[in-house]
Amino acid sequence: MASSTKYIFVTGGVTSSLGKGIVASSLANLLQARGFSVTIQKFDPYINIDPGTLNPYEHGECYVTDDGAETDLDLGHYERFLNRPTSQANNVTTGRIYQHVIDKERRGDYLGKTVQVIPHITDEIKRRMQMLGQSGEYEIVITEIGGTVGDIEALPYIESVRQLRWELGRNCVSIHLTLVPFLKATGELKTKPTQHSVKMLQESGVQPDILVCRSEHSLSDEIKRKLALFCNVTPDSVIESLDAKTIYEVPQLLLAQNMDEVVLNKLGLPTTGSPDMGRWSDFLNRLVNPTSTVEIGLIGKYVELKDSYKSISEALIHAGAENHSKVEIRWIHSEDLTPSNASKALAGLHGVLVAPGFGSRGFEGKIEAVRIAREDGIPFLGICFGMQASVIEYARHVLHLPEANSSEVDPTTKHPVIDLMEEQKKVTEKGGTMRLGACDCNLTEGSLSRGLYGRSSIAERHRHRFEFNNAYLADLEAAGMIAAGINPETGLVEIVEIPSHPWFVGVQFHPEYKSTVANPHPLFVAFVAAAMTHKTH
Ligand code: GLN
Repeated sequence: MASSTKYIFVTGGVTSSLGKGIVASSLANLLQARGFSVTIQKFDPYINIDPGTLNPYEHGECYVTDDGAETDLDLGHYERFLNRPTSQANNVTTGRIYQHVIDKERRGDYLGKTVQVIPHITDEIKRRMQMLGQSGEYEIVITEIGGTVGDIEALPYIESVRQLRWELGRNCVSIHLTLVPFLKATGELKTKPTQHSVKMLQESGVQPDILVCRSEHSLSDEIKRKLALFCNVTPDSVIESLDAKTIYEVPQLLLAQNMDEVVLNKLGLPTTGSPDMGRWSDFLNRLVNPTSTVEIGLIGKYVELKDSYKSISEALIHAGAENHSKVEIRWIHSEDLTPSNASKALAGLHGVLVAPGFGSRGFEGKIEAVRIAREDGIPFLGICFGMQASVIEYARHVLHLPEANSSEVDPTTKHPVIDLMEEQKKVTEKGGTMRLGACDCNLTEGSLSRGLYGRSSIAERHRHRFEFNNAYLADLEAAGMIAAGINPETGLVEIVEIPSHPWFVGVQFHPEYKSTVANPHPLFVAFVAAAMTHKTH
């Protein structure tokens, strides 16, 4: 099985942020639409064991998989494009590689040997690069190498790709993503940065088979020929990647240039037939031809870097398309919201989404946003910290417990309606120690969520340390906020609702991680539908 698995490596050159993740996802999408089983993995050259300990300002959202891995946000794209879950094995960092090798060294596994980058670190990288391929589940494994060619820290990865190309022969293709800038003054597209970037890759012994060139303008045949000549590739292997209206258009843009066929030919795989893009095209049609617009307020404290809420904004896009509606997001900084200005800041919104988060900064603003949504009957979706804020708001203003709080925000609060989870009390280490990954949840008969999911039991992904304090459950339920979802093993409240409100749902889990193009999340779909109803009333 292992020998027949095909490997595609995607490297980036010239600059970061060219969208390697989207190109990898789009190519995977085309290959999957031809019937191949495909997965994508990302190798990140930083020393953190995982991005869970990184500030969202540094790295954007931390994406969580079913098996509880805290991963790079590109894995979210992989799942959204492929509608297949990823796992811990799909995201590897330099930190994890070194940790494994150093642990082995301490165990004596290399006794007598000097442990070196080559071969020990590269062997471990290669082992992990082939792990999913060897599982027998996938015919094609796409590996995205984080960072940019030429970075010191990327060298062991490029060296591993060089060795694997040698070992895998025809079962391996290397794609290099670069930038072809447009010089306004002379009105020209410039190929030199790409030439240099490919040279750098060649110096490391890797000859790319395919170039994907990000550009603001279409590449003429002449430019393609020039790039092909200088970079040792065939002209049909120079693919342009123009700025798209939406990332979901990229598969079609690559398909129009037969990138799937070029790749399959190089891998020695059959190219008969064509990708079945029917469902994808339907989605795209609905997305680019909406018949209405709704405005949703997204209240969070990292709104300056929109990547911090990537899965939420994508889930809203999926839900909008499902409803034939364009979702416009009003990004609202929770730190700016006060009791006196919140009403104005939220005026005109058709839905309010209070985002996940950590720590006290901006938390009172989130509570204000909940208050406005609750009092004014605006559809409300609270996620994780947003759900916790909704419980605190209800306790303060409906149960009349003005000191109600989360013990995360005020450790001495008299009414910790949100409190540290029992199992978290002994945890001192930071990395990977939250309640993480998919947990079961039973939905309460007759609740809004029960109807929306259409099932009595679900599994959703978590990432938190604090929880609803069940000591307050009876009082909150008597006052009109109900537990609509409960963890069957621990009795933890995972969903709260206010049945007297037009649409009010707070979830302890992160539904955004599971929304995909093929499967828009039911809570987001219903939230956008409720926002549309609110708009017309
Ligand atoms: N800070 C909260 C907790 O740890 C919520 C976490 C989140 O929103 N992801 O429970």
